[in-house]
Amino acid sequence: MNNILTNTINENSIVEIYKSQKKNALAVSQTTANERIQKLKKILSWISTNEALIQEAMFKDFKKHPSEVLIGEILGVNGEIKHLIKHLKSWMKPSSVPTPLNMVGSSAYVKYEAKGVCLIISPWNYPFNLAIKPLVQAIAAGNTVILKPSEMTPHTSALTNKMLTELFEPNEIAVVEGDANVSTLLLSLPFNHIFFTGSPAVGKIVMTAAAKHLASVTLELGGKSPCVIDETANIKKTAEKLAWGKFLNNGQTCIAPDYVLVHESVKDELVENLKKSVEAMYNPDGKGIENSIDYCRIVNARHYNRVNRLLADSVEKGANIAYGGKSIETDNYVSPTILTDVNDSMAVMQEEIFGPILPIIPYKNPQDVVEIINNRDKPLAMYINSSKSKNIDFFMNSTSAGGTVINDSIIHYGHSELPFGGVNNSGIGKSGGIWGFLEFSNQRAVLHQKYGTFKMIFPPYTPTVKKLINFIVKYL
Ligand code: NAD
Repeated sequence: MNNILTNTINENSIVEIYKSQKKNALAVSQTTANERIQKLKKILSWISTNEALIQEAMFKDFKKHPSEVLIGEILGVNGEIKHLIKHLKSWMKPSSVPTPLNMVGSSAYVKYEAKGVCLIISPWNYPFNLAIKPLVQAIAAGNTVILKPSEMTPHTSALTNKMLTELFEPNEIAVVEGDANVSTLLLSLPFNHIFFTGSPAVGKIVMTAAAKHLASVTLELGGKSPCVIDETANIKKTAEKLAWGKFLNNGQTCIAPDYVLVHESVKDELVENLKKSVEAMYNPDGKGIENSIDYCRIVNARHYNRVNRLLADSVEKGANIAYGGKSIETDNYVSPTILTDVNDSMAVMQEEIFGPILPIIPYKNPQDVVEIINNRDKPLAMYINSSKSKNIDFFMNSTSAGGTVINDSIIHYGHSELPFGGVNNSGIGKSGGIWGFLEFSNQRAVLHQKYGTFKMIFPPYTPTVKKLINFIVKYL
C-alpha cells in the first residue's frame, strides 16, 4: 500500500470499521423517521455553523469562488436535507398495492428497508456536494456508511472527515480518506450497496468489484453531454445560459455542455454572443479573465496537462481557436476557450472534455444532429435550445440521455423532484430526493395471506384440479 494509505488509515482499521458497521446496521435500520431526521438536522446545523470553513477549504483546493461554493455545493446539500426532512415520514411508510383477482383473500405492500452497510466513493469536482448528498440519502434510508472522498481535493476531504467524525460514531458513519489504493481495499469488502460518482473508466472497476459480492451499485458517471441549438432559438439568451453552464467550475462539471451542435445559419451569431457572455461574466472590468477571482481553476497539474493536450491536439488537426486558448501553468489556469472547425478525429470529440473548452459544430439537417449524438455513448445530459415544439420533440424522441433541459443548461440537477443519473456509460441508477431514498432502500415485497388459499391447485393433479388450473390460466 502507498503512503496515502499508511499515513491516514491502515488496512486493519478499515476492516474494523466495516465490521463494526455490519454489527450496528440492523439497529440503524430500525431507527424511526424522527431519529433519522435528527441526524439530518445535525448535519444541516454543522454546515450552517461552518460555512466559511467549507468555502475556505475549496478555495485552497482549486480556487473555487466562495459564491460558487454556496451555489454549487452548500445550496444543493441544504436543499436536499430539507427535502428529505419534509418527506421522510411519508416515504418510509409501507405502500400498499391493489389485490389482483388471483390473490383475493390476501393483502400486500412494499416495505422500504435499509440496504445495510453502504460505501460511497466521491469525486473532486463538487467535493462537498457529491459526498454529502448521497450520504444524507443513505442516512434517510437507514443505512450505515463508509465514505471515501477524493484525494484530489484534500482540504475539503479533511473537513468532511472532521464534520462526520464530530457528528457520528464510526460504527454508523465513517470517512476513510485516500486514493485509488484505499478505494481498492474498500471495494474488496462485501458492502450491501456501493454508490460511486466518477469517471466511466473507474465505474467499470467499481462494478467489477461489486459483482464479486453481488453488491447493488449506483454509478453516477460522466461523458460527452451535447447542447443542440436550432435556428429558432433565442441566440443571445441561449449563449448566456450556455456560457454559464459550461464555464462554471472551469468546465469541471459532469453535466457541463461538452460540445455544441448549432444550426449553420446561426453559428457565427452564437460564437459572437458566447464571447460577449463570457466577457460580461469574467472580465467586466477588462483586466483579463486570468485576474478574475470569479473564475475557478483546473484542479491540479495532471488535469491542467490533460486539458492542454486536448487543446493542442485539436489545433494540430486543424481546429480554430475562435476565442480564448490561453493557459498559465503556474496557476492551473485555462481560459474559457471556443473551438470551431472541429472534427471527429480530434481527441476533444472523443473524450469527455471536463475543462473550459467548448467545440462548436455547425449542422445542416436535424437528422445529422441525431446521428452525431447516437454514434456516441448515451450522454448524462442533453440540452435542446429551440422555440419550436416540433423540433424539440424530434430531438427528444430520436435520442436518449440521463436528463434533458430545454432552453437552459445544467439546472435540472437542482430540481428536487427529478431523478438524477445517466444511462449505461453515463451511469446506472438514479439519485436525488425520493429517487435517492429508493436507491438506498430494498423494496421488500410483502404478501400477507389472510383468508385465501391456493390449496385447490395443489397436487395430485386430478381431472378437477386440471380443469381449475386451465380455467385460471384462461380467465385470470
Ligand atoms: P475518478 O473516477 O477518477 O475518481 C472518482 C473516485 O474514484 C475518487 O474518489 C478516486 O479516488 C476513486 N478512484 C480513482 N481510481 C480508482 C480505482 N482505480 N479504483 C477505485 N477507485 C478509484 O473521477 P474524478 O476525476 O474524481 O471525477 C471526474 C469524473 O466524474 C468525470 O467523468 C465526471 O463526469 C464524473 N462525475 C460524474 C458526476 C455525476 O453525478 N454523474 C458528478 C461529478 C463527476
